Amino acid sequence: MIAQVDQAMERELNPWLSAEARFKEAAERLNLDEGLQKVLRTPAREITVAIPVQLDDGRLEVFTGYRVQHSIARGPGKGGIRFAPDVTLDEVRALASWMTWKCAVVNIPLGGAKGGVICDPRILSQIELERITRRYTAEIFEFLGPDKDVPAPDMNTNEQTMAWIMDTFSMHSRHTVTAVVTGKPMSLGGSRGRPEATGRGCMIVTMEALKLLGKAPSETSVVIQGFGNVGGMAARLMSRMGFKIIAIIEWDGAVYNAGGLDVEALFAHRRETGSIVDFPDGENMDRETALFLKCDVLLPAAKENVITSRNAHKIRARILCEGANGPTTSVADSILAEKKIFVIPDILANAGGVTVSYFEWVQDRQGFFWNEDLVNQRLEEIMVNSFNDVVAFAQKHKVHNRIAAYMVALDRVASAIKLRGIYA
Ligand code: NAD
Repeated sequence: MIAQVDQAMERELNPWLSAEARFKEAAERLNLDEGLQKVLRTPAREITVAIPVQLDDGRLEVFTGYRVQHSIARGPGKGGIRFAPDVTLDEVRALASWMTWKCAVVNIPLGGAKGGVICDPRILSQIELERITRRYTAEIFEFLGPDKDVPAPDMNTNEQTMAWIMDTFSMHSRHTVTAVVTGKPMSLGGSRGRPEATGRGCMIVTMEALKLLGKAPSETSVVIQGFGNVGGMAARLMSRMGFKIIAIIEWDGAVYNAGGLDVEALFAHRRETGSIVDFPDGENMDRETALFLKCDVLLPAAKENVITSRNAHKIRARILCEGANGPTTSVADSILAEKKIFVIPDILANAGGVTVSYFEWVQDRQGFFWNEDLVNQRLEEIMVNSFNDVVAFAQKHKVHNRIAAYMVALDRVASAIKLRGIYA
């Protein structure tokens, strides 16, 4: 019996099975032709490369790298590259399809792709990481490019990694090609507003949801899990906007203040002590207790599989804004729907990041850079329109927002494929 429960939980926690369950439901509701469903499910191209690298101690090692281009029906592939010991082709494949749906929900002219290299960055030196990055780029050179496939950072890769990819690609092309990657340093063609973009996007869609509930930010309490890029930026921007951030949860503890935390002081406290715990202007709280606090908005921005069939009934938020990728399992979806929690699904809520990546690509191709106000204004326009598209679909088809978001995305990609026709 226990083994059966464990197996069921294992299946529930498999993000690819969760994504598949949602794909299936959305495709069926759209009455998508079975053949077209096959096309939409199957990655257009999967590349596996061997990456021989000389380590600092002189030994030769061979790493394995992947790049999966799930769909280029709506434009060049777009998606991050992760470096981790447990990267698998299956995982990269699933993440690539996720990118296709995310770009389609926000209606930007890009497809979906993802890459990964099996390696452990914690035991590699900077020089070794640079060699891996450059050889990986050289191996997939002919499949990359501003019109083909545009990588970005993901787990354990960053601005520096993108600078190495851009340089390697440019050396092979014999001229500088900044638009081949996004998430670059500002001095190499990065966009203003990119570091804040995902958190800002979360704030924008939350404000749209509040309008539907007739509530102002100043009367809205927020609990945020994760005080990193997405959660930290969302906390900073939302508190500036007047939201009350009543709790922040990190891996080593949570802090709580019913009147609203001073987010800038919390950043300073973490800089000084290395942790958010023991913040003088808040109380320490157990992480679980904080996650299930009564609040208006819960913003998970740390990791996947936080809300499952085991705990979804304990959530006491009115709005769930998914800053992280895959924080809710598909089994938990129906529990949240029964509880009438307004869910802003990940492929919409955290799409601010890829949207400003798209702006970076546009600016690099134009060779003309926008000021931060223009970036933010255009981001807001896209996030608000996408939110409205999803909510309108949900109302029209009487489905919850997540299935509506998948329906919007599948519909857009399917229409592009139908209009283009199958080349043969
Ligand atoms: P990050 O590493 O900057 O921040 C994650 C934070 O969560 C860290 O501070 C970490 O300590 C904390 N954390 C880890 N485990 C935790 C736990 N069990 N409980 C509480 N906190 C925990 O990463 P990020 O870039 O902010 O990404 C967070 C999530 O958002 C990921 O799912 C990522 O895929 C997704 N996402 C990020 C972006 C982006 O632009 N950075 C865009 C789209 C989606």
